[in-house]
Amino acid sequence: MSDIMREAVKRHCKKYKYSAEYTRYWIENPFCEICGNHSDAPHHIRTRGAGGSDEAKNLIALCTTHHTEVHTMGVMSFADKYSQFFEKIIAALSERDAINIFVTRRPSDGCDS
Ligand SMILES: [Zn+2]
Ligand SMILES: [Zn+2]
Repeated sequence: MSDIMREAVKRHCKKYKYSAEYTRYWIENPFCEICGNHSDAPHHIRTRGAGGSDEAKNLIALCTTHHTEVHTMGVMSFADKYSQFFEKIIAALSERDAINIFVTRRPSDGCDS
């Protein structure tokens, strides 16, 4: 990640009060873990609303397309479709979360859900 991008991510995370762990993950994982395009923000596999943390094991870097897709189809269908992430996703979820499907996507403000 370039210095300019790094500064932009830091400023953005500060503005939206993202944690240091979240910010670090974003800087260290600037590309979508599925397709390799630029990530718009790390996604919380277990949602923050469900008590998901900002630890690396609960985050996945996604481009706008894949980020929208996971919020639209729900994390379980997403895990089925992209089986290379199945284990990471399942490991981050509790049984109860696995039943929950999260559907709304905020504008590119990071991942608040
Ligand atoms: Zn992607
Ligand atoms: Zn997200």
